[in-house]
Formats: sequence, C-alpha cells, structure tokens
Amino acid sequence: MKQQTQPKKPGRNEPCWCGSGRKYKDCHLPLEEAHRSEQLRLRQAQDTLLPRIVEAAQSLPEELPPALARFWEGKYSVDQLAELDTLEDRGSERFLIWFSFDYANSEGQTLAERLPPAADSGSFVLEPAERTLLDRWQGVRLRPYVIDELRKGKGFSARDLLDSKVHRVADSHASKRLEIGEVIVGHLVPVETAFASAEPTYYLAGAAAHLTPDTAEKLVEYAEYIWPIYGAANPMPHGTT
Ligand SMILES: [Zn+2]
Repeated sequence: MKQQTQPKKPGRNEPCWCGSGRKYKDCHLPLEEAHRSEQLRLRQAQDTLLPRIVEAAQSLPEELPPALARFWEGKYSVDQLAELDTLEDRGSERFLIWFSFDYANSEGQTLAERLPPAADSGSFVLEPAERTLLDRWQGVRLRPYVIDELRKGKGFSARDLLDSKVHRVADSHASKRLEIGEVIVGHLVPVETAFASAEPTYYLAGAAAHLTPDTAEKLVEYAEYIWPIYGAANPMPHGTT
C-alpha cells in the first residue's frame, strides 16, 4: 500500500487525512490521541526510571571501565564520567544508557536484563509505567536511523540504516529537534495502545546521538561498538560495513 502523507491536521468533522472517506474523529484522531498519551506516559516514566538505572549501573564499578573504554574508544576514563555530558553532547547519559541496555557482561546479559523482574523485585520496586517501559526497552538495541519524513511537533519516520526497515515514530518531543536527512543513533521503543489494528509506532527513548548526513565514518564507529552485542544468536544483517 502506498504510504500516505499527513499534510495538515484536519478538523474533527473533516475527512481524515488518510483518504478513508471517514470523518477524522471516527478514523485516525482517536488513534493519534492514544499514541500521544501513551508516549507521554512512557516519557514521564523515563524521567524517574533512568536515574534508578544509572544508580544500578554505578553499583557495578568493575564493569564500567572496560565498557567506557569501548564506547569512547579509550578517549575518556571513568573519572571523567561526571564531565562527559559537557565534553560530548550528553556523553555521560548516552554512555550509561548504552551500558544499561546494550552492553552485555561476560554472561551475555545486559544490566537491564539483570534487573529483578516484577514478581521478585526486592528493593527495586517500580511504578507500573516504569515497569512497562523497562519491559519494552529490554528488547530494544541501539541502532542507526535516518530521518525520512518529519512532522514537526508530531512525529517522524526513521529508516534503519542496517536493515532499511521504516519505523513510524510518534514522538512530539524528539521531532522538534530533528531535521530531514539527519542520522540518529538511538533506541526506538514500541508504543502500544488499545488499537490492535494500528501500525506499529515507536518513541525515541533516552538520549540519542544526532549526526549530520555526511557522518558515515562516525557511523561505522558506532556500528563497531554496537556490533558485538548482537552475537551469534542474533546476528546483524549483512551489508552493514
Ligand atoms: Zn484515517
């Protein structure tokens, strides 16, 4: 099916932008509202979940130095972790998120996968929205995307540079800071709503690296550090070097 574009938000009683012939309020409006509120719920949960995960990451002092060396290719040491947010664009936050969700320890598990499950959470008790976010985020890996289509303040389409799959991202917050053709390296977490028939929608979780379209070389560096995480059980698609 041909990809529909969404030029301008129609009025509630006007025909839907998708061309179905139905009124907007009976077609895409409720779906878009559900996506928006779920995305906001996840984003709010992120604000409280991430500091707790960062705290958990800092309780693993023996795992941090080798991970930091790999992420920044030996450029920085653990003592510089506090300054990294200013030395590099959100450098500390991006590293700690990658360390928590992508970096596997010697047993092949990420920190996020080692956090206690809901049934056995001990002192690590999460709010329902934080738990939802953590469960969805655990299955997501850091990947490079190019912005194909942009609806400022609403969302964008991101094409995976490794497998060419296009993801529809309903993220009003992130869409304001992006440009068409820009390359981002980030986590696209699924946004699920009660609309089972809806096409899959995502939101950009955590801090993404923003790269200009001519940074192919830098992207290869990123591919190199995310590469080992996939391992034999979950190989990367070929043609990515
Ligand atoms: Zn529609």
